[in-house]
Amino acid sequence: MTEAMTGDCLFCSMVDREIEPDVVHETATTLAFRDINPQAPTHVLVVPKTHHRDVAALAAADAGLLSDVFRAVAAVVEQEGLEGRYRLVFNTGAEAGQSVFHVHAHVLGGRPFGWPPG
Ligand code: AMP
Ligand code: ZN
Repeated sequence: MTEAMTGDCLFCSMVDREIEPDVVHETATTLAFRDINPQAPTHVLVVPKTHHRDVAALAAADAGLLSDVFRAVAAVVEQEGLEGRYRLVFNTGAEAGQSVFHVHAHVLGGRPFGWPPG
């Protein structure tokens, strides 16, 4: 079980490989895997390996780990060939569409994106 986790967490289960994700990138502190319900031709989720409920909680608890997440995002962007043409999203709170309360960056690319977002 992962540090600071309370109860069941889907993404902690993936970090622990109780559920096997479709991994695209991994470091000592982060894991990136393909979203099971992709919203764009490329849709990768990047998570810290320790449990924090959202990006603000992660920033408050461990700024170094937050930096690791962004470095992993950059690596995924390069690996997927998305430099300069991707969207990075942190849905935060149920009202904003967060459904898994283990902080994750959505890296979306491969199509145009509208603004404002839906
Ligand atoms: P959010 O709604 O921002 O919390 O994002 C959660 C994301 O997790 C959604 O885009 C889901 O499609 C994705 N998701 C849910 N279950 C899985 C799974 N088993 N493997 C990969 N992605 C998942
Ligand atoms: Zn978790």
